[in-house]
Amino acid sequence: NFKKRQLTPSQHQAAGHDGCMTSDSLFIKPTTRQELDFYQRTLELDEASHEEPLLGALLSHWMPPWLGQLSQSDIDSPPPPTSSSASTLEIATTQDSSRKFIVLQNLYHGIIHPNILDIKLGSTLTDDKVTPKAKIERLRQVSLNTTSGTLGFRICGMKVYQNHHHQGKEQSQVVMPRELFKEMQSCITADSMLENIEYDGVEREEKTTYLEFNKYFGRGLDVNNIADALRLFFANLHHAKMLIHRFVQRLQLLHNCLLSYHTRMYSASLLFVVEGDSRRWSTVNGANYDEFDPLVYEFDPAQDDEEDDEEKEEDEGDKVIRIPLGNPSRLSGLYLIDFAHSKHVDAKEGLDDNVLDGIENLIEIFAKL
Ligand code: ADP
Ligand code: MN
Repeated sequence: NFKKRQLTPSQHQAAGHDGCMTSDSLFIKPTTRQELDFYQRTLELDEASHEEPLLGALLSHWMPPWLGQLSQSDIDSPPPPTSSSASTLEIATTQDSSRKFIVLQNLYHGIIHPNILDIKLGSTLTDDKVTPKAKIERLRQVSLNTTSGTLGFRICGMKVYQNHHHQGKEQSQVVMPRELFKEMQSCITADSMLENIEYDGVEREEKTTYLEFNKYFGRGLDVNNIADALRLFFANLHHAKMLIHRFVQRLQLLHNCLLSYHTRMYSASLLFVVEGDSRRWSTVNGANYDEFDPLVYEFDPAQDDEEDDEEKEEDEGDKVIRIPLGNPSRLSGLYLIDFAHSKHVDAKEGLDDNVLDGIENLIEIFAKL
């Protein structure tokens, strides 16, 4: 029933190409044969594993749930545009008709104001067996001149919500360490909008601001300031210490998981997603943290759809964003994404050291944050 769904351009992205769309809990992204094959093969391998695995033990636990694929014609005639979907038609008709899309779970669905960080893994960014020579050379240079080369990962893009609701920090903004990043001011832009927010029974108009760090920000970093750049992602968050610790645990668990796979994931990314709006953290404390921000989140598409239906009935008229009280599930998550240049190889070819090294270095730096 795809033509009946309303597709809108993805509102939040940390990096990557244009052309991504969302529809309720779905994220629809232009894709390649290789990426679709990687999702399919990974699920085949994981379904074949015998015992009931612990959450986080399988590679598919770290990937966005894969719901299917679409071709351009499947999404070509969306319903007549309302004001909020006016740009949908444009997206759907300007692309060539053979284009394929992958349908994934939207990883920021249910999050009011997400912080998103995309970290590209590996010092080798291309599959030298299949990539054209010119591209190999170009990406070799990128790696050589960035933390991809020195640390096996680099920040690809970052989006940070400017939280005004942090207790005791009512007026605070993320303090930019201008000295550290003054060369890179042109890579950082502020995006502001007015939103109608309902919280605790009170509705009001709020100015929402995100800072966006583009790919040249990440390319300009080095081993000396990479930690400061990562701190910016957490600086304005509620429970920053617990969150950083949680991400260290997740990185360790993911590293451990990858030790039982033989992949070659070139230019894949780690995606960090966090609820930036401290009001959704208001009932979380040290004692219940584990329950409210689990290590690995188990997606339930059926439940997501139910939530959406409820929202729709309420959301007649002006769009109001309701911040739920006492329902803090899915506050943050770590995912592996972007498999356009990924494959599974024979066990005798060994582990994916290119990716494992990057994760190891990242763990070390996170542990110091
Ligand atoms: P590419 O880099 O080839 O454009 P990616 O798979 O890296 O494609 O996706 C681009 C961006 O889209 C990512 O940086 C991330 O912010 C966002 N994104 C990707 N997959 C999802 C998803 N399932 N849910 C939400 N956002 C996503
Ligand atoms: Mn990407």
